[in-house]
Amino acid sequence: MSTTQLTPVLSDPWDAERSWTLDTYRSRGGYEGLAKAFTMAPADIVDTVKASGLRGRGGAGFPTGLKWSFLPPADGGPRYLVVNADESEPGACKDIPLMMANPHALIEGVAITSYAIGGHHAFIYLRGEVVHVYRRLLAAVREAREAGLIGKGLGPNGDYDLEITVHAGAGAYICGEETALLDSLEGRRGQPRLKPPFPAVAGLYARPTVVNNVESVASVPTIIRGGAEWFTSMGTEKSAGHGFFSLSGHVTRPGQYEAPLGITMRELLDMAGGVRAGHRLKFWVPGGSSTPILTEEHLDVPLDYDSVGAAGSMLGTRSLMVFDETVSVVRVVSRWTDFYQHESCGKCTPCREGTYWMKQVMHRLEAGKGLPSDIDLLLDVSANIAGRSFCALGDASAVPIQSGIKHFRAEFEAGTHTPASELFPYEASALF
Ligand code: NAD
Ligand code: SF4
Repeated sequence: MSTTQLTPVLSDPWDAERSWTLDTYRSRGGYEGLAKAFTMAPADIVDTVKASGLRGRGGAGFPTGLKWSFLPPADGGPRYLVVNADESEPGACKDIPLMMANPHALIEGVAITSYAIGGHHAFIYLRGEVVHVYRRLLAAVREAREAGLIGKGLGPNGDYDLEITVHAGAGAYICGEETALLDSLEGRRGQPRLKPPFPAVAGLYARPTVVNNVESVASVPTIIRGGAEWFTSMGTEKSAGHGFFSLSGHVTRPGQYEAPLGITMRELLDMAGGVRAGHRLKFWVPGGSSTPILTEEHLDVPLDYDSVGAAGSMLGTRSLMVFDETVSVVRVVSRWTDFYQHESCGKCTPCREGTYWMKQVMHRLEAGKGLPSDIDLLLDVSANIAGRSFCALGDASAVPIQSGIKHFRAEFEAGTHTPASELFPYEASALF
């Protein structure tokens, strides 16, 4: 049985009737964090978030307060907060339910963060396909404005103004990369920019900009309300606090499990009723398709940044996809490779050309028509993409192939003479 308890903080109001309304949010202490923030100096808010140890919940885990402190001193010009709500990683599904069930947690976080960094205009960049989330956010921003929580004349002296714009993109995975997102927000084709300069120095319209993930920003109000010590009382020393663990695939009760960082996959599986009845775990990924495959031997690895890294993977977005023994690794890796090839923005050669070639080879392995040299070819092409691409998408495209071959080489070898459909005669639709 699991010894770690769930920590429903952001998901606290989710079971309430009309959980997304301002009234419900306020009845659970909503906007008390903003009221407290307005009694603090902006620099003290930054220090509190730094002391909390909150690390970016979008996947990279960069310390949030530290990122805020990278902004250059105020020069009288604008500076922006941009919320990355373009959740698109295969397997990632935490920000969208959070924005649907509790949009005011994000809006309160936007208000506190903007006040702390001296911003007066914040943008929420949402992926275009989720029209229902777009409508919900617009309604919540309107509610907050009508209640005087954002708009003009805020803050301790009534001289702080804040505008929030919700922007829906057109649905390209690359626009989740922060600099491609900024280009897209500026009305250009979304393609990554060279870093440095980081957005903190030259971001939106070349002005200092903080880009934070939805869950990171939504975590700020509770940190201000509860204090840094409350937050660090959960999680591990270097991975403080709580977060969403999104379980999908072959589990009995898939869904969002909000828990302290450092919980193990075994504990989460216990809470989720285990692998579906009559089946056993074959492999899993801790943070969506961009994080290396793990197996049963890794079930007791604490799900914090360091431990998952030491186990040869990455915590990433905590999108835990579970696959049982009916699944062909070759088929799964082939679908993920299709995805990266489709979403490659084409700016740099290793990713643009390499993902195309990896896709061709994966398709023939899947069909049982691979060549004996294909495994070495895949390892060679993927090694020439990883670390040689312009942005993290290229690196990520190499991950499923490299980790798939590492753990299940025999299945890839079988693809040189037997179709995956004969080895694993299950409907592809039953896998996801
Ligand atoms: P990164 O490590 O390059 O940067 C992380 C953040 O820290 C960025 O905001 C960056 O600007 C900032 N930063 C890093 N060094 C800095 C410095 N010296 N000065 C100022 N700021 C600095 O990672 P990334 O490329 O932004 O993101 C990769 C991650 O995104 C992956 O780990 C993956 O898990 C995640 N991801 C998430 C999704 C999703 O749907 N949520 C999709 C794809 C990828
Ligand atoms: Fe575009 Fe891929 Fe290069 Fe990133 S790595 S810039 S997605 S081509």
